[in-house]
Amino acid sequence: MRIIDIRERTVAISRYDDASIPSGGLTTSIVAVTTDAVRDHGPIVGFGFSSIGRFGQAGLIRERFAPRLLGASAIDLTGRDANLDPFRAWDAMMRSEKPGGHGERCVAVGTLDMAIWDAAAKIAGLPLYRFLAERLDEKRLIAPDLPVYASGGYLYPDDDLSRLADEVRRLTDAGYTRLKIKIGAAPLAQDLKRIETVVSLLPTGHHLAVDAMNSYDATTSLAAASALAPLGLWWFEDICDPHDFETHSAVASVYAPPIAAGEALFSAAEAALLDRYGGLRRDRDILLFDPAHCYGIPGYLRIVKELEVRGWPRSAFWPHGGHLCNLHIVKALGLGGAELNPLRFQPFGGLADRAMPVDGRIALPEAPGIGFELKADLLQAFNDLRR
Ligand code: MG
Repeated sequence: MRIIDIRERTVAISRYDDASIPSGGLTTSIVAVTTDAVRDHGPIVGFGFSSIGRFGQAGLIRERFAPRLLGASAIDLTGRDANLDPFRAWDAMMRSEKPGGHGERCVAVGTLDMAIWDAAAKIAGLPLYRFLAERLDEKRLIAPDLPVYASGGYLYPDDDLSRLADEVRRLTDAGYTRLKIKIGAAPLAQDLKRIETVVSLLPTGHHLAVDAMNSYDATTSLAAASALAPLGLWWFEDICDPHDFETHSAVASVYAPPIAAGEALFSAAEAALLDRYGGLRRDRDILLFDPAHCYGIPGYLRIVKELEVRGWPRSAFWPHGGHLCNLHIVKALGLGGAELNPLRFQPFGGLADRAMPVDGRIALPEAPGIGFELKADLLQAFNDLRR
């Protein structure tokens, strides 16, 4: 089994349903990885992208990681089942890389890794969650559906509260029972109004999580924690700089409800530091590591293992990302649940076309691979890449 072609392109991606609203210039890399496996008279191609919320990784993919995959031999890439082996492909990509210095090379590797798993699951004729569970020899029963929450609630440049309320109504009307909105981009008093607006449209405050996008410093973190504590929120996410464990720990010592962290940490070593110094509580807190940002599935599995050994339950893992690939990983590993971006970051976020949550839970497509082909706009983007 060999990889015979890799296409890559950087595309713009928007935090807003209305992509004309400025969104910080976010991009993502999309990749198509062509194998020498043939089905229905054509090669099997895996698709991937750099998840959501960071930036495309064109340079690293083109100059370093794609050439290593293309240069790898059949022996390098083929597993005992004669399929493309994503772990062996990962080793080929990481050849000569040194420990530490993660930067965003982890995102470049994670992007290609997503496409490799998609291709391998397609070659096996299995949906990714089943292929991954079998590959890992997972013994636990795979649940028929999994819990998700809808993410959004970015600050609108005008008419914020009424547009936020409209967004919440669209999501609850679509079957989402738990939501997450952004805070930290506006003064705290304004954020409290935003939270009050959203909670008034939900059964309780426990149906809402808030994400400060790592915006608070040592002082404002504690001020926000004190204001949020009485609200009974589901969780308080990305409080301060991802490496400011001192502030994080200070907040955890005074903020009793759940805290969520780890979205902007990308390695098992950093996960261990967060656990050791961040003040997190294994009985309630949430771990957000995003597989595609953490060197892909092999890197993410190292993080899960590192934290399981340290006493964390799998139910604490709710990966950041909000797209189909992470749903498969959550389902295969029996994690707590997953973020979804049904309205934003299109065409990458959300479920397959016409799929809807039922009571806050979703079933995954049974098509081989991740199922990006079941999202027409996304398939178009990948097909354009291959022309
Ligand atoms: Mg976040």
